[in-house]
Amino acid sequence: MENTITEKLNFIEEIIESSIAAGEKRVHTRFPPEPNGYLHIGHAKSICLNFGLAKKYNGKCNLRFDDTNPVKEDVEYVDSIKEDINWLGFKWDSEHYASDYFEQLYDWAVELIKKGLAYVDDQTQEEIRQTRGTVQTPGTNSPYRDRSVEENLDLFARMRAGEFKDGDKVLRAKVDMSHPNMLMRDPLMYRIIHTEHHRTGDKWCIYPMYDYAHGQSDSLEKITHSICTLEFDVHRPLYDWFIEQLAIFPSHQYEFARLNINYTVMSKRKLLQLVKENYVNGWDDPRMPTICGLRARGYTPASIRLFAEKVGVAKRDNIIDLGLLEWCLREDLNKIAERRMAVLDPIKVTISNYEGEEDIECVNNPEDEGAGKRNVKFGNELYIERDDFMENPPKKYFRLQPGGEVRLRYGYIIKCDEVLKDAEGNVIELICSYDKDSAHGGSSDGRKVKGIIHWVNAKEAVKAEVKLFDRLFCNEDPEEGGNFLDNLNPDSLKVVTAYCEPSLIEAEAGAKFQFERLGYFVRTKEGFNKAVGLKDSWAKQNK
Ligand code: ATP
Ligand code: MG
Repeated sequence: MENTITEKLNFIEEIIESSIAAGEKRVHTRFPPEPNGYLHIGHAKSICLNFGLAKKYNGKCNLRFDDTNPVKEDVEYVDSIKEDINWLGFKWDSEHYASDYFEQLYDWAVELIKKGLAYVDDQTQEEIRQTRGTVQTPGTNSPYRDRSVEENLDLFARMRAGEFKDGDKVLRAKVDMSHPNMLMRDPLMYRIIHTEHHRTGDKWCIYPMYDYAHGQSDSLEKITHSICTLEFDVHRPLYDWFIEQLAIFPSHQYEFARLNINYTVMSKRKLLQLVKENYVNGWDDPRMPTICGLRARGYTPASIRLFAEKVGVAKRDNIIDLGLLEWCLREDLNKIAERRMAVLDPIKVTISNYEGEEDIECVNNPEDEGAGKRNVKFGNELYIERDDFMENPPKKYFRLQPGGEVRLRYGYIIKCDEVLKDAEGNVIELICSYDKDSAHGGSSDGRKVKGIIHWVNAKEAVKAEVKLFDRLFCNEDPEEGGNFLDNLNPDSLKVVTAYCEPSLIEAEAGAKFQFERLGYFVRTKEGFNKAVGLKDSWAKQNK
């Protein structure tokens, strides 16, 4: 069928298309992470947007590390960021570091001082904060605001030379202390930090602020569309002000709503806290919203790209349901994951009237003929799922019950003849008989049975450790009540021992499967992680 729906542009695409219509020849975006943590699903949204726009408009997208704060940054993060972007399926046109521009940024600061547009301030951070005024009241000028150009040049050079301690002096832009936008009230450009930088070592002890570095870095790379999240809209006048005063390439900033997902925290500070205080097992814990966590959980790059597309590009903040992310994973894995059988909570079944063994043919993936078929051995000792049997079932229970019948997936119909229990009355084994004429969906007398259950052959099944995850937070809004740590879900990880088809154990780490009737699972070095269930069980439970 022809796809006749005309594609609807998002508002950034509209901006780009109108700039192209007005004569703009290039689209050049960038993704600018600060290397102070691992990337999360929010960053993935920004990556898909920036790289996606470059691809769509035949443009370019740079990777730029916004490494202007040596205190929190590290090469460990640089490496993981590159790995994650690659894994998501994107390639940057060129790799940059804001720290590569430190010399140029310094020269431009000197230029602004010479133009009378920047000055060295001796006030403490606290004094600066107190004299900024409020939204209603103007700020007051610093007593150092009218220093001569010569004095400013001298002090700034000595700041760079390391003559002053951290916090002794800052360089500020001379804009307007009564500007209605508080960020324009003589914003800081440089502060003194005597800390080694992961790339520039001890070459610098003054570091540019985000607002002074970001726009100029964009301009140096001739970025046409500098896309960032909504909270930066108040920074835009300052972004434009520096570029205008320096008369350099006019990059422009555009803002979109950041991605928020319920049951999830996304601030790097909070994710770092979860890791450092051992609430999770590292940045790549499968419960984390980090890209490496999602990868460990069994997420595929395609599922994350699909999610970014479904979320779209919003102008206003909103909260996306975690269920949508899970839906996107199911969409992808349904198509690509081979089916297997595994039993997570086993109960033994003995088929009293069956002897020997035989191969039973199973379809690997009904959604993908190319995935072929495999044989599974049938025998007289099996495991089925404990909750596929009920001794006193309610009406309409179609799985196994005393005297009742059920079909084994791909196999025969069995009937439960006897229930064996231990001294405490727990069911330990079911003695069943099979209908020898019931292979391939048939039966001896044409009767149909409603229930179909999965099973494994007890003699050849292999044990594996399976990790089952639940949401990391109990509350839709993890911040509810003030402290996100109070809302951690105490039952977010459960480890069980499953019995698996032997072929599952041979699979390589990273291979994804649908365990029939149970959900999607990814092979890990130790066993399996549950990626997602077959249906949205959470939505049902909580209705
Ligand atoms: P945090 O506040 O958690 O430290 P950040 O925004 O400071 O995150 P950066 O490394 O500066 O993290 O972000 C790199 C890019 O990713 C920025 O352009 C930022 O706007 C974007 N980004 C970060 N979080 C999100 C999000 N939740 N949704 C969309 N884009 C995001
Ligand atoms: Mg940031």
